[in-house]
Amino acid sequence: MSTPKLTPMMVQYQKIKDQYPDAFLFYRLGDFYEMFNDDAVKGSQLLELTLTTRSHSSKNPIPMCGVPHKAVQNYVDILVDQGYKVAICEQMEDPKLAKGMVKREVIQLVTPGTQTDTGAAGAKRNNYLTALMMPQADQYNLAYTDLSTGELKAAAIDSRTTVMNELMSLQTKEVVVDDSVPTALTNQLQKMGILISKQETVEPSAEVSYVQQDLTDPRLQQVVGLLVTYVTVTQKRSLAHLQRAVAYKPTSFLKFDHSSQVNLELTQNLRTKKKSGTLLWLLDETKTAMGGRLLKQWLDRPLIDRQQIETRQARVGALLDHYFERNSLQDELVKVYDLERLAGRVAFGSVNGRDLIQLQTSLEQVPQIKHTLAELDEAVFDPLLTQLDPVDDVAAAIKAAIVPEPPLSVTDGGLIKDGYNDQLDTYRDAMRNGKQWLAEMEAHEREVTGINNLKIGYNHVFGYYIEVTKVNLDKLPADRYERKQTLANAERFSTPELKDKERLILEAEEKSVALEYKLFVDLREQVKSAITRLQKLAAAIASLDVLQSFAVVSENYHFVKPTFTTGHVLDIKQGRHPVVEKVLGRQSYVPNDVEMPDDTTILLITGPNMSGKSTYMRQLALTVIIAQMGCFVPAESAQMPIFDQIFTRIGAADDLISGQSTFMVEMQEANRALSQATENSLILFDEIGRGTATYDGMALAQAIVEFVHNHVHAKTLFSTHYHELTALDTVLPALRNVHVGAVEQDGDLVFLHQVQPGPADKSYGIHVAKLAGMPESLLKRADVILGELEQQAASAPTVAKELTHDHPNVASAESQFATTSPVSASTSTSTVAEQSVSAVSATPAA
Ligand code: ADP
Repeated sequence: MSTPKLTPMMVQYQKIKDQYPDAFLFYRLGDFYEMFNDDAVKGSQLLELTLTTRSHSSKNPIPMCGVPHKAVQNYVDILVDQGYKVAICEQMEDPKLAKGMVKREVIQLVTPGTQTDTGAAGAKRNNYLTALMMPQADQYNLAYTDLSTGELKAAAIDSRTTVMNELMSLQTKEVVVDDSVPTALTNQLQKMGILISKQETVEPSAEVSYVQQDLTDPRLQQVVGLLVTYVTVTQKRSLAHLQRAVAYKPTSFLKFDHSSQVNLELTQNLRTKKKSGTLLWLLDETKTAMGGRLLKQWLDRPLIDRQQIETRQARVGALLDHYFERNSLQDELVKVYDLERLAGRVAFGSVNGRDLIQLQTSLEQVPQIKHTLAELDEAVFDPLLTQLDPVDDVAAAIKAAIVPEPPLSVTDGGLIKDGYNDQLDTYRDAMRNGKQWLAEMEAHEREVTGINNLKIGYNHVFGYYIEVTKVNLDKLPADRYERKQTLANAERFSTPELKDKERLILEAEEKSVALEYKLFVDLREQVKSAITRLQKLAAAIASLDVLQSFAVVSENYHFVKPTFTTGHVLDIKQGRHPVVEKVLGRQSYVPNDVEMPDDTTILLITGPNMSGKSTYMRQLALTVIIAQMGCFVPAESAQMPIFDQIFTRIGAADDLISGQSTFMVEMQEANRALSQATENSLILFDEIGRGTATYDGMALAQAIVEFVHNHVHAKTLFSTHYHELTALDTVLPALRNVHVGAVEQDGDLVFLHQVQPGPADKSYGIHVAKLAGMPESLLKRADVILGELEQQAASAPTVAKELTHDHPNVASAESQFATTSPVSASTSTSTVAEQSVSAVSATPAA
């Protein structure tokens, strides 16, 4: 120890603290958890606690602060929410009975990824803890679990991008790594606000081998081992609810990267960072917390398997067709509590009487849910019907044992029903009789003493007593009454007889409380043995809930069932952006078609700012995602291929994480699309190239369009400012121009939000500036400049003339973006760099 003067308690403290250097140590001391030293200094700031000192008389007083044990959960949550770990150190023996120092141990290390009590706000969110190993370059083994539900999944991944996307869409707050993960990667994760936890030894344990059972890939076994070891080490409690790990492949789902997830506002509003205004918000009509979480999972991973999608569609369709059954289903689902997390609490041993009643209530809904579902008489629901096991033995056991409104505490009695256990009934009789005896004794004493206000009472310190007011003291017989306590106006006494009864009553009380607790624990163990069944049931209910949510949304917002083509026909009639529509109101939203036959891969979208180009593009992406989740879509009709990936370059989401410039990020995102997209992908490029000088940007934009057209063949929506690009349709056969219309009215610009064939005829930038309220003089000046520029352009070579030239100074233009984009192979950019704003080259990219 650093200073020899430490008290034995501080020696013990330091010994424990040394094992948890990176956590706040909450050291139990009587009714408080205390922090000392640096923990206390930092903790007092973060938790707004008063900082005091211990042994302040000494030269080196120890900083200290504490929180009451009853409120500890709040304080732990605050710290963990901010990304810290908290080690809870308990007294392991009764201080009154301890010889010497009270034995203390850390009973749990709470960390951001293992926090299970996330409160009501977190009910519809999973809290995922992830483990990552990197045995070789470009080999990433990933496993994740939600400790509150026991879900456990693992994937072997071979690309950095995919791993990052997985971590982002899981919204994992903590990643467990071993030595195989290089510091550069862990640093990057830390910059993203993720807590890195090192876990070295993988101890083979019963838990680990249980969860590994279904895994055949040693890579997955290892990383699941690492994850579960960390959980075991930190949680130090039963993990009976951890499910067998399921292997998954990120590629068996529709892929979109994190920036798409952000830019399309799938789960988080770009501005507010909240759920409101997102696709998740729109689709969420779930009635249960489990359904809410599953919906988010389905949104993170839309399907690519046609049959799976069509099964969901058929179920949604069936629920849509049966209004009444759907309504009663909703009524029943509302009464189902969070079975997954209840099962988790059962395993942890943190379940109380009220939780069990919630479990019972939930289980009692199941027969009714099955009945309703059977009424639908639709074969698509047969597999779900067989999964809906009401686990009625557990429901019956709880019903037999637990009173309907049990207290919060499980150790103070009052939670087991009368008639459940003979011994308990005997104790309770004694207690009840005891009350009867006391009442009789009170009456008797009043009679013999003649003191009418004499009463028998009870308090924790003195036990049972007879209270006599001072004025009546002289009426008491001297012999039997023994003084216990003196109050201002009264004296309290005991008698041998009262002491006798007191002993009987208290004994019965004590024994009954202990017995109740034992009965409760037995019941809990019984429920624990049914955890796997409860989890299966929870999964079935969750998916039923999401399906009914889809049906409700489809009905409320007039969605239709999309059909899937095997070719590449994309044909959406009167499609809408469902979130914008919901916000604006159905009347104000202008629906639009997306027509891309087999032979059209690119729609080049022009139109003024604020006309709705970006909305149109997002609308398509959302429609694809919604369709592949198995829900109906916001359109009058929709025919589409099943997409494998969605790439977006939309908006100006600066990459805060890596501190890259917007333009660099733009090029990287574009590059990702160009290098990874297949002919089954969807690409959305919103005004690519505007982040740099005009010619430069336009050159890139054109080269990208050509590259997509000639090499990638993905369905692509490309909106652009560069009006000049619209000439490309004469040379790129799979490109079509569309524009978003606007009309001028009295010199003002009126947006129609209507997508029409052909290019837009003019840039409306100045009009938009006018709408924004720019000074009249400035607008006039801009008009003049525009006129001059248009004249210059008119005298420059026209598009068609320049089409096929290869220019000599192509090399310098190439090297400019050779590092970021495969477009560098294109030879078409120098024309623009040289001179002409309207020059367009259709030279196919090499
Ligand atoms: P652009 O990308 O062309 O600058 P946006 O797509 O951002 O324009 O649309 C600008 C605004 O116009 C949106 O915020 C939305 O309120 C409105 N808008 C866009 N599309 C429609 C539509 N189809 N119907 C009604 N309003 C729309």
